[in-house]
Amino acid sequence: MRLVTLGTGTVAFTPERVCAGHLVHAGAVMLLMDCGSGITHRLAQHVPRWREISHVAITHFHTDHIGDLATLMFGWKYSSIPGRSAPLTLIGPAGISALFGRLTDAFGGWMRDTGFPITIVEIAPGASLDLGDGVSLSATKVPHTPESVAYSVTRGGRRVVYTGDTGYDPMFAEWARGADVLLCECSLPDDMGIPEHLTPSQCGAVAAAALPKQLVLTHFYPPVERTDVRATVATHFAGRITLGEDGAAFEIEED
Ligand SMILES: [Zn+2]
Ligand SMILES: [Zn+2]
Repeated sequence: MRLVTLGTGTVAFTPERVCAGHLVHAGAVMLLMDCGSGITHRLAQHVPRWREISHVAITHFHTDHIGDLATLMFGWKYSSIPGRSAPLTLIGPAGISALFGRLTDAFGGWMRDTGFPITIVEIAPGASLDLGDGVSLSATKVPHTPESVAYSVTRGGRRVVYTGDTGYDPMFAEWARGADVLLCECSLPDDMGIPEHLTPSQCGAVAAAALPKQLVLTHFYPPVERTDVRATVATHFAGRITLGEDGAAFEIEED
C-alpha cells in the first residue's frame, strides 16, 4: 500500500497546505479520502493517474473536506477526450447520498450525466466494505460533527487508519490499535484545545494507546505550527512521528 498526504491543511489557507485529502493506492484500488479545496491541483501535482481513482470516501461534510468534489467530477468529465467512463464509488457517512443530490441540483445538467456510473454507499459506523482486490474499508464514529467517521483501509495484512476530523476519544485509539500508519489530525495547540479537534498532547495520547508503527500528523491550523508539535507528541508517544506535508508519500510493504 501507498499513502500520499495530499492536503495537510485546513480552512486557514496557507500556500503550503491545502484543505484535507489523502490518497491510498492498494492493489488495483485508488482511494481518495476527503476532497477539500486544493486537492484537485495536488492530484495533478503528485498523482499523474488521478483519472483512475476508483473510490472517494468522505469523512464528514465540512467544506474543507468536500469543497473540490464537484470540481473533481467536472475534471473527470471534461479534462480529456473522451472523458472518464470507468465507474466510481462514492462512500460516506449517512447523508452522503443527500449531499451529493444537493450538489447535483446545484451544478445541474453535466452532473446528472457525468458519463461514468457513480455508486453511492453510505457506510455505518462499525461496518466494513469490500472495495475489491483484497482491499477493505471500515468506519468508526468520531466526535466532531454528528456524521463524522474515521476510516481504516486494509490489504495484505497492512492497515492505514485516518482520523478525519475528531476530538479526543479513547475508544477511537482502541479501534486504531496496531495500525501501520495512523494519519491523525492535529489541529490546535495544547492551550487552544476544543472537544471537536485534537492537540499535539492528545495526538500523543491517542498514539500511545493505539501504538501505530508510524504516526503521521495532518490538518494543522497555523497556531499549532508555531509550537514544537513533534516534541509535544513525543512526550507521550515514543514511536515514529512524521509531520505530514502536502505530496509526501508513505510506502507500506504488504505481507
Ligand atoms: Zn471538520
Ligand atoms: Zn477539517
